[in-house]
Amino acid sequence: MEYFGNQISALIEELSSLPGIGNKSAQRLAFHIINMPSEKVEKLAKTLVEARTKVRYCKECQTITDEELCPICANEQRNHQTIMVVENSRDLAAYEKTGAYQGVYHVLQGAISPSLGIGPADIKLKELMVRLQGDVNELIIATNSSLEGETTAMYISKLVKPTGIKITRIASGVPVGGDLEYIDEVTLLRALEGRIEL
Ligand code: ZN
Repeated sequence: MEYFGNQISALIEELSSLPGIGNKSAQRLAFHIINMPSEKVEKLAKTLVEARTKVRYCKECQTITDEELCPICANEQRNHQTIMVVENSRDLAAYEKTGAYQGVYHVLQGAISPSLGIGPADIKLKELMVRLQGDVNELIIATNSSLEGETTAMYISKLVKPTGIKITRIASGVPVGGDLEYIDEVTLLRALEGRIEL
């Protein structure tokens, strides 16, 4: 890529390190950016930096947000006694899109994976256990049906069982190995409605 010059090559390299951006797309984006009015490029750069610095985890559910409490946790109309455990904020967004879930969430920000060296202490489990000391009726475990998701579900259910809180797992309508965010809303709703008690 030397023929592009160092600056452009560096830009292409940075862009192609993003997920889903191959070398061709990176080149296309790079040349697009170079031809943009400079104030637009500055706005884009500023937005990137601000998003990175201002975004944090919700104090309550650990989802990504820019306030102390995310809009869902801050909403008093939601049922705060039902907590749905999901792996990441994209899964939360998938359930929110169905519009049918009235409870709140807990976002683990990952899943237990012995093969990747990710243990229970590496995800937001401690934070969940603290929340369960409050007034909670039901814990819905909606981790993915991948090996990691199932391992995490099993670990949580063993951990929470002694508290006596009702624990349910979403139905297996969700295909094995399926990433929750790619599953259509009807399947998600069925999985939620058909949840079974653990
Ligand atoms: Zn929250």
